[in-house]
Amino acid sequence: MKFRSIKGTKDVLPAESERWQAVENGIRTVMHVFNYREIRTPVFEETALFARGIGELSDIVTKEMYSFEDRGGTSVTLKPEMTASVIRAYVQHNLGELQPLTKLYYIAPMFRQERPQAGRLREFHQFGAEAIGGSQPAIDAELIALSVEVFRKLGVENFELRLNSVGCEKCRPAFKERLKTFLKKTLPGLSEESQRRLEQNPLRILDSKDPRDLEATKNAPLTIDHLCGECQTHFDALRMTLDVIGVSYLVDGRVVRGLDYYTRTAFEIISKELGSQDALAGGGRYDLLVEELGGEQTPAVGFAAGIERLLMVLEKQEKPAGLGIHPRVFIAAADDQSRHRALQQASELRRNGIPCELDLLDRSLKAQMREADRQHAEYAVVVGEREVRENTFVVKNMKNGEETRIPISAITTFFLNRT
Ligand code: AMP
Repeated sequence: MKFRSIKGTKDVLPAESERWQAVENGIRTVMHVFNYREIRTPVFEETALFARGIGELSDIVTKEMYSFEDRGGTSVTLKPEMTASVIRAYVQHNLGELQPLTKLYYIAPMFRQERPQAGRLREFHQFGAEAIGGSQPAIDAELIALSVEVFRKLGVENFELRLNSVGCEKCRPAFKERLKTFLKKTLPGLSEESQRRLEQNPLRILDSKDPRDLEATKNAPLTIDHLCGECQTHFDALRMTLDVIGVSYLVDGRVVRGLDYYTRTAFEIISKELGSQDALAGGGRYDLLVEELGGEQTPAVGFAAGIERLLMVLEKQEKPAGLGIHPRVFIAAADDQSRHRALQQASELRRNGIPCELDLLDRSLKAQMREADRQHAEYAVVVGEREVRENTFVVKNMKNGEETRIPISAITTFFLNRT
């Protein structure tokens, strides 16, 4: 019986995992530079957390969650996104008491039962950040700058930041009615999906990519033209701050976001290198969520980005294939008697933090040297009967072929001095 990975999931094989590590290191560096600290939460949570946090009517909750009853009869769900979990942890552990503004980041797998296609998986990975505890536009600006900096640092080219404000609980209800009135007039022209959404979630119709919806909503009202005074002031201040810190953006009244909890700021980072699934990252402000999940009224803002899509873009740009991890040293045994000595030498190098490899398959010296070459080792150390007798090893520079005899006792220092 042969098994295969489940549809919509992917193995990351060694050749690719190096690129993952490079990306993860880059993310961590930028998060550190912006003083965001890592949070890790469990892979599964109570289903009710997501239903409540993301919104009962959102696509994720209505059709995409991996939910099941555990043996104790509790309905649990594999995390489809991270914000609800982070806020649950924030409330549960009173993180707000330690610090008035809590800045957190994560790198984690997410699960959504979507139709698999390029850029859309059922298990995928997100990195993201949440700043919890303030409503100042400078916090939105810092978080947006952070998300942009990650892509810049990793060498992503041609991405675009699209910015919008979706209003708040004061101005949005009236806007929704206005939008509904407009859409009802064009109802037959809308896609079936949008017709269904009209009553419950009309805003989402604005970011539909269906050509029928695009045509029907050409002249639809947009939230940015109908903000209340406070939302307008917030949006203007955010734009000014982004200008001051040199983050370029495009105001796009159609950025709505699929999750229900956003208030005011909504943004997306789009890559022109991706096809129909062109969003690299999305985020926004969610001032009501902490309270919704049982905490005190606490404004917050966050974003999430897909790692697989980021890697797709880097691949299209033909960025170097990662760190090129390889052993610095390959210890080759010239004969069977020397294999023990080779193992000893490898252990000593490894104890000293020098990446090295040796032959464990009892191959000939020639085959071992070929292997050293194939693995791009920088040096090969040959251990043979003469070497053991004379207490010197031959160190071969694999790039230029230069060979040096070095006393056994000096081998480790030789490599340590060359790091
Ligand atoms: P969302 O949480 O839906 O706002 O998504 C944030 C980011 O996660 C998107 O911009 C994508 O880069 C990524 N993403 C979302 N869903 C998927 C998926 N099914 N497969 C791969 N990446 C995804």
